[in-house]
Amino acid sequence: MRASRVSASYGAKVAIAEDGRFGGTCVNVGCIPKKLFSYAAHFREDFDLARAYGWTVGEAGFDWRTLVRNKDREIARLNGVYERVLANAGVTVHRARATVTGPNEVEVGGKKISARHILVATGSWPTLPVLDGIEHAITSNEAFSLERLPRRALVVGGGYIALEFASIFHGLGVETMLTYRGKRLLRGFDAEIGERIAEEMSAKGVTICFGCEPAALRKKGALEIEFTDGRIEKTDLVMFATGRRPNTAKLGLEHAGVKLAADGAVIVDRFSASSVPSIHAVGDVTNRVNLTPVATAEAMWLARTLFRGERTPVDHDNVPTAVFSNPNVATVGLSEERARERFAAVDIYKASFRALKLTMSEHKERTFMKLVVDRASQRVVGAHMVGADAGEIIQGVAIAVKLGATKAQFDATIGIHPTAAEEFVTMRDKAP
Ligand SMILES: Cc1cc2nc3c(=O)[nH]c(=O)nc-3n(C[C@H](O)[C@H](O)[C@H](O)COP(=O)(O)OP(=O)(O)OC[C@H]3O[C@@H](n4cnc5c(N)ncnc54)[C@H](O)[C@@H]3O)c2cc1C
Repeated sequence: MRASRVSASYGAKVAIAEDGRFGGTCVNVGCIPKKLFSYAAHFREDFDLARAYGWTVGEAGFDWRTLVRNKDREIARLNGVYERVLANAGVTVHRARATVTGPNEVEVGGKKISARHILVATGSWPTLPVLDGIEHAITSNEAFSLERLPRRALVVGGGYIALEFASIFHGLGVETMLTYRGKRLLRGFDAEIGERIAEEMSAKGVTICFGCEPAALRKKGALEIEFTDGRIEKTDLVMFATGRRPNTAKLGLEHAGVKLAADGAVIVDRFSASSVPSIHAVGDVTNRVNLTPVATAEAMWLARTLFRGERTPVDHDNVPTAVFSNPNVATVGLSEERARERFAAVDIYKASFRALKLTMSEHKERTFMKLVVDRASQRVVGAHMVGADAGEIIQGVAIAVKLGATKAQFDATIGIHPTAAEEFVTMRDKAP
C-alpha cells in the first residue's frame, strides 16, 4: 500500500496485486483489531477503579458478539479507505494472487504483467508446531472472529502476541493460562521488563507456566492439552502464538533467481534489494523488524531510492515498540544486557511506583521505568517501561534517544506534573 502510493506520487506507473483485504495483516488481523480488543479488555479494571472515585457502577456485563461486530464494521471502513487511497493515487489494482514468473514479470489472475521493478511485500503467516491434535488449536488469525468467547483459554507463547491475547482474554473474563517453554517472557526485551510483566500479569490473575512445552492436544468435550513433562490442563480454547513465517511459498521467487533464507524470508541488502536487482522486498516477508511502521518506512525509503533518485538505506536503529498487554510494555533502544555487551560500562536508572490514579483503590499494579546510559558518552541508549500508556510515553522518549540525548539533557528537561512520564526526567540515583 505505502510503496504503491508513494511511488505513484513520485511519478512511477504502479500496479498492485492483493488477494486478501486491503490493509494487510495490521488492519485485518493484527495491530488495529488487537488494540480495539485490548481497549475492550481494559474496561473491566476501569469499572472497578471508578468505584474508588465515588461512582456507583451497576453490574457490568460484556457481549463478545457486539465487540466483534463493531470491530468488523470499523475494519470494513478502513478497507474502503485504503482502496480509495490507491484509486486516488492512480494505482492500478489487481484483485488476485500474484506469482513472480521472471525478474521483470508477474502473473496475476492468469494475466502476465511486465515491470521494471517488482516489490515483494507479501507479509507473514502464523505457524503451528507439528503436534498430535494441533487441528484443535487456533492462531491469532482466528482469535479475531471467534463465534463465542470461551470460559477458559490457554495461550501458548512468550512473545508480544501471546501476552497481548492472554491479557485480552483475561480482561474479558476468560480464565486464562499462558504457557511458555522458556524461563522469561518477551525474549529480546530488557530482562527485567520480561520479569516485571510476568509478575504484573500473574498478580492480575493470568496463570503463567514457564518451561511448559505442549506435547499433544485432545478433544474430549473440553480440550485437553498435554505437556512434555506429562502435566495435563483442561481448557476450552488453545491459541498458539509461537511464530510466523514469511509468505514466500509458491510465489515463484526461487525460479526468478531470488535467494531465500532458511525460514523463507527474502534476503535483502540495506536498500531492500534481493539477489535479483529488479526485485526488492520490504516488510515481514524479509523478517527483519516485523512491525507496521518499519514496513511502511522501508517502503518509503525504497520509493525514494527507486523513483526520487535519493539512495536511502533502511534505518533499523532505535525502533520503539510496545506490547499492549495489561499493563502495557514499551521500549526503545538497547536492553541493559545488549548495552553491557556493546559498551565498556553502563549506568542504570530505575523507578518503580504505584501510579497516582491507583492510589485511592486496592489496585497494586506498579509502574516500572528504566534508563540505560552509556557511561563514557552519557548518552541514553535505552528506555524501557511497564505501565499504563507505556506506548504513548515511550514514543516521545524515542525521539530523544534517536537524537542521541544525554542523561544530563533528560535531567534538564522539566517534567509534566503529575504524570508517570515525568519519572523519565527525574531519575537521579544510579541503580547499584
Ligand atoms: C496479532 C498481531 C498483532 C500485531 N500487532 C502489531 C502492533 O501492535 N504494532 C505493529 O507495529 N505491528 C504489529 N503486528 C505486525 C504487523 O501486522 C506487521 O509487521 C505488518 O502488517 C507487516 O506489513 P507487511 O506489509 O509486510 O505485510 P502484511 O501486512 O502481512 O501484508 C501483506 C499483504 O500481501 C497480501 N499477499 C500475500 N501474498 C500475496 C500474493 N501472492 N498475491 C497478492 N497478495 C498477496 C496479503 O493478503 C496481505 O494483504 C502485529 C501482527 C499480528 C499478527
